[in-house]
Amino acid sequence: MAYPDVDKGFNHNFRYEYCKIKKFILYYHKAFQTTDRLMITIRTRKGFDINIAGMPSHDLETLAKPARVALLPEKIPFVKPRLKVKVDDPVKVGSPVFEDKRNSQLVFLSPGGGRIVKIDYGPRRVIKEIVIELDQDEGYETFPVISEARLQGMERKKLVKTIMTGGLWPLFRELPFRDVPNPDIVPPSIIVSLNSKEAFQPVPKAYLNDKIDLFEFGIKILQKLSKTLLISTSSDDVFVQDHLNSYVTHTYKGFYPAADPGVLLYYTKKSPDENKSWYINGQDVLLLAMLFKTGKYPVDRTVVLGGSLARERKHLRTRMGVPLNHITKERVDDTGTARYIVGGIFKGYTGSKDSYMGFYETSLVLIPEGDEKEFFGFARPGFNKSSRSRTFLSFFNKSSMAIDCNCHGEVRACINCGFCTEVCPVDILPQFTYKSILADEIEEALNHGLLDCVECCLCTYVCPSKIELKNILKEAKKAYFLEQLQS
Ligand code: SF4
Ligand code: SF4
Repeated sequence: MAYPDVDKGFNHNFRYEYCKIKKFILYYHKAFQTTDRLMITIRTRKGFDINIAGMPSHDLETLAKPARVALLPEKIPFVKPRLKVKVDDPVKVGSPVFEDKRNSQLVFLSPGGGRIVKIDYGPRRVIKEIVIELDQDEGYETFPVISEARLQGMERKKLVKTIMTGGLWPLFRELPFRDVPNPDIVPPSIIVSLNSKEAFQPVPKAYLNDKIDLFEFGIKILQKLSKTLLISTSSDDVFVQDHLNSYVTHTYKGFYPAADPGVLLYYTKKSPDENKSWYINGQDVLLLAMLFKTGKYPVDRTVVLGGSLARERKHLRTRMGVPLNHITKERVDDTGTARYIVGGIFKGYTGSKDSYMGFYETSLVLIPEGDEKEFFGFARPGFNKSSRSRTFLSFFNKSSMAIDCNCHGEVRACINCGFCTEVCPVDILPQFTYKSILADEIEEALNHGLLDCVECCLCTYVCPSKIELKNILKEAKKAYFLEQLQS
């Protein structure tokens, strides 16, 4: 399998020099103060936090077992699924369900024990859902149990094979395309993001609370995969500072998407080699440790239910591939007008009420569609309309606001207002980059730093002309990736 060359397309020359100087100053500044390990604080200058109503509490409820769970191959980027099961087949937790046609070692395992009851296809035979009806007593496939002592003496190759056959290799993603990485390559670094600046994502206090030992074991596994681990958290996360301070290498201060691994890399990288760093979420480090400690495919997930239409907004301990209506059951005020957003307000997608949580998603947000007509809407002061610009009086409203899905207008031509540039966390000029893409000038888009784009969606959110900037940039990155694969 070939992997693309990504030495160009980044917005880096000035940044590399800046980071080298900054690191030098920070290192010596710290060295004179303390002998502690160096922890760097990243202060991002851009980004934006929407003060959205409906934030979840840190309370944690454990959900009952659902009747069904599912895998959604369609939602796993860059993977071309080849089925290893058919309807009516019995499966155990951890049985292979499908593999990637490009790399048959990359397998996706069953998140439940029972029977395959449905395989749902979309247009062009894209596999949308593979649904498993759960048995009362689920069977488990078994994998080798690896103790800490055994881990110490384990070769990297064997470790990689254990993670791959255990179905957890897709938890790693490689920048800048966010595809599943080539297992034969040693990454320049692995970034572990403990929390997200995006509203409605699980916080470490909820998913790590009684699992600190497991997390520490998971870090030992990562240390065998790359010499450099960058473990980042928010500078105001008291829980992490109390329990895992000795592991954290970077804290960040700033607005969304300051926590994104691509942003961290942008602020810390010192050479083009680092552009291909890998990342993994804090919660997923626990899954690696569980696989090794128990010899069973781990299906536990802590997810968040939030949004203005969720009556009970909290963290929920449940399992991978859980039905959305199992999460929302008696916890929402849905009169049929709610938009179900799976995976976060900015980075997620619209899900159907009858669908399931995907392999990567840990957040479900319910907000109003907002499609009802507003009488004299154009003349209203908009005290409660969330907006980055000063068009509405909401600019002075510092309390949280309920948002809906209404764009308040149609797509228009770019007016060169520069709002997208003001918020872009990685200093791309989105208005010029998207124009280069529309003109089929991919080289020019790369020169603007296309590959630095962290797909945060802020440029789309602030654009008064309603241009889908993030989608245009993301699709261009994807096309470039696929082109490089074939060349
Ligand atoms: S171009 Fe848009 S989506 Fe990409 S990083 Fe900048 S603001 Fe985010
Ligand atoms: S925010 Fe929209 S209208 Fe303004 S410069 Fe960017 S693309 Fe153009």
